Amino acid sequence: MSRRPLLGCIADDFTGATDLANNLVRSGMRTVQTIGVPDETGGPVDADALVVALKSRTIPADEAVAQSLAALRWLQSQGVQQVCFKYCSTFDSTPAGNIGPVTDALLDALHGPGQGFTIACPAFPDNQRTVFKGHLFVGDVLLSDSGMRHHPLTPMTDANLVRVLQAQTQRRVGLVPHEVVARGAEAIAQRFAALQADGVGIAVVDAIGNDDLYRIGVALAGMPLVTAGSGIAIGLPQNWRTAGALAPDEAADRLPAATGLRAVVSGSCSLATNAQVQQFRQQGGTAFAVNPLDIAAGQDVVAQALEWAAPRLAQGPVLVYATAEAEAVRAVQARLGVAEAGELVERTLSRIAAGLVQAGVRQLVVAGGETSGAVVQALGVRQMAIGPQIDPGVPWTAAVSPVCAGDTVHVALKSGNFGSLDFFTKAFARLEEQARP
Ligand code: ADP
Repeated sequence: MSRRPLLGCIADDFTGATDLANNLVRSGMRTVQTIGVPDETGGPVDADALVVALKSRTIPADEAVAQSLAALRWLQSQGVQQVCFKYCSTFDSTPAGNIGPVTDALLDALHGPGQGFTIACPAFPDNQRTVFKGHLFVGDVLLSDSGMRHHPLTPMTDANLVRVLQAQTQRRVGLVPHEVVARGAEAIAQRFAALQADGVGIAVVDAIGNDDLYRIGVALAGMPLVTAGSGIAIGLPQNWRTAGALAPDEAADRLPAATGLRAVVSGSCSLATNAQVQQFRQQGGTAFAVNPLDIAAGQDVVAQALEWAAPRLAQGPVLVYATAEAEAVRAVQARLGVAEAGELVERTLSRIAAGLVQAGVRQLVVAGGETSGAVVQALGVRQMAIGPQIDPGVPWTAAVSPVCAGDTVHVALKSGNFGSLDFFTKAFARLEEQARP
């Protein structure tokens, strides 16, 4: 049955969008993720939740605002009832933005200049991100004592979110402390009203466990804009279930049955991916190693890989990888330059991925965040239906690709450090499992 989407999300980066979409699906909402803001002429999307993936976390604030407002307009054209602006659970931002400016712009658009009220809640307890007395903790330490203080783009040197956010927004920032959250949804809603009457426009909300997110979720029913980390996905769907707008028992992670051949393309050089490649090969998997120096020397590595794959695909899955240990990567980077090596390998792997799909691959695992971005682009994918989780943070998705004349391709995008040792074989088994009635 086709329904109008209930929740519309704007995520400030690609893997964060998938993380949120994965959590929404696990909470029972059929979810579609789009790459950038779709064309408004595209027609209605059949899903309970939409997630627009932007790349707006560290771009200039005025550009982040413009992109987020374009996403809002598209979500409104789809008829969503509530909008969620999703950022990282470590509140990645600088005094210039972009969390504050984007929140201000979305509130202005939804309520009028300077008007309206929303929350800020990056808490994701399952991932060790908690907020207490307005302070964000990563595991056992304050955000400002965590590795985030050294982040190259968004160093977080203050864990007091009220202070951090106040430096970025025109609105007054307040706090709903844990003692109020613990009393339940009614107490939280009353505190929202009291803060708003006091001139507060954005309230940081404490949450130290999933129970808190459920209570906060209930209090957010009907709030036009919510701003949060992906943990909030735990708390929001229940409101529509209570209202009868969301089926209670629907298998939200159902994808169309997978068809076609299987392949893995890996451009991640993380420790986890190196171990996964090694495990795949040790277990007798067929694999082709891409050497960046061969590409730089002008060899047609794309053609070589595809020629190698052609007779092997029927017995697949095949693995094509540039994955290498740190020392080998450093040697390549010293020869070619860091950015140049990365770009060269990404371009080659994404062309190989497109060639594999042209050769009949319809189940594709991609390892590496940047590599995934390049592959999705090469496949011309504009939106993905989110399916069953393979490992935490990595779901299967189904996408339509012009590379195979609009056929459905099942794609799993694994960012570097995710996934168990046997991820490359487990992923395909998971897809087969979901197809069983
Ligand atoms: P991760 O999610 O592990 O960070 P990414 O795909 O985001 O993985 O980043 C890995 C980067 O390393 C990509 O730019 C990729 O092209 C590059 N790369 C992959 N293999 C090699 C290699 N053997 N030598 C140098 N760079 C490589």
